[in-house]
Amino acid sequence: MTQIDIEGLVKTYEASEDHDVEGNEIVAVDHVDLQVRDEEFLVLVGPSGCGKTTLLRCIAGLESITDGDLRFNGDQVNHLRASERDVAMVFQNYALYPHMTVRENLGFGLKLSTKLPSDDIDRRVVSIAELMGIEDLLPKKPGELSGGQQQRVALGRAIVREPEVFLMDEPLSNLDAKLRSEMRTEIQELQNELGVTTVYVTHDQTEAMAMGDRIAVVNDGRLQQVGVPEELYRNPTNEFVADFIGSPSINLITMDVEGNRLVSEFGFEYEFSDYQVDDVATVRLGIRPEDLEIDRGGSDIEISVVEKMGNENFIYGKLGDKEIVARTDASVRPDTGERVGISFRDEAAYLFDAQSGSALK
Ligand code: ATP
Repeated sequence: MTQIDIEGLVKTYEASEDHDVEGNEIVAVDHVDLQVRDEEFLVLVGPSGCGKTTLLRCIAGLESITDGDLRFNGDQVNHLRASERDVAMVFQNYALYPHMTVRENLGFGLKLSTKLPSDDIDRRVVSIAELMGIEDLLPKKPGELSGGQQQRVALGRAIVREPEVFLMDEPLSNLDAKLRSEMRTEIQELQNELGVTTVYVTHDQTEAMAMGDRIAVVNDGRLQQVGVPEELYRNPTNEFVADFIGSPSINLITMDVEGNRLVSEFGFEYEFSDYQVDDVATVRLGIRPEDLEIDRGGSDIEISVVEKMGNENFIYGKLGDKEIVARTDASVRPDTGERVGISFRDEAAYLFDAQSGSALK
């Protein structure tokens, strides 16, 4: 049983000369408050450089914490070494020992950290190998394994230690798409079965949405929002989250507010039937691609590309210089260069303050 509490966590690095930053500090993690619940699978997601790996490494004890609190089950662990925290980490590059067999790789951590007799260690290694479906690989060395097999061994090595917490840093990013989606399911099943509190880092929002019980979106070192996948998709707290979650991304159009009308510089207008924006002069209107309808009688956008996906189409067009995408039924097939209208229901519209990015509707 482990609950992780992160309060006001800050991690700064001294800037080296090749970092183009003002002052001499890089704030990699900026006052993050986050609770990871017992047995939860929490995904940290955000663009490259947003600080997610640093936050994970702080939880692991691989980075010192500059400020704030980190607690496991209520006990502060800020100053505990990684080896004293009962966490197991899985990395993108597997980090297996190349000169050891799979059997030795799996047992090595246990040999170091426990006083178990070698027979017991071997029994545990074999049972984990069975669980992971890698018994046949036990006598092999990492160099003889495929990427997927190596990643399985790396996972097995984390599990064999029976840690309180799993920390995974982009563990699937070196695998091809098919294997990646198979391993996603496998990791989820394992985590479910073992019930170990897990923090999983990825930059891939699809992976985050597929895997996370809850997802924490990070940008610029700051936590933007944490919630279940549907909550982030349906009720993003700001423009960044709306834009980051969802594929293709949400359409965001800058509009001036005139009462219950919105007017874009490209002539596109929208009138809400019973909604009015107060106190904000300019908004970003957000429409998810699946909520945007194409009207072949209208002329708001010019079609640039129609991607036929089989059961649906992604229709790209230009509203002035802004690219717009609609996700439609396969039967909607406008021609490239054709001008079409766009429409959506009031309920489908998201509105963000153009200045602050905060959600208004
Ligand atoms: P990626 O997905 O590309 O790994 P990330 O979201 O995991 O990105 P971090 O690796 O946590 O981001 O980096 C966050 C910020 O901290 C970046 O600006 C990075 O350059 C900086 N940083 C990370 N490690 C160090 C370090 N050891 N020394 C100085 N700056 C660092």
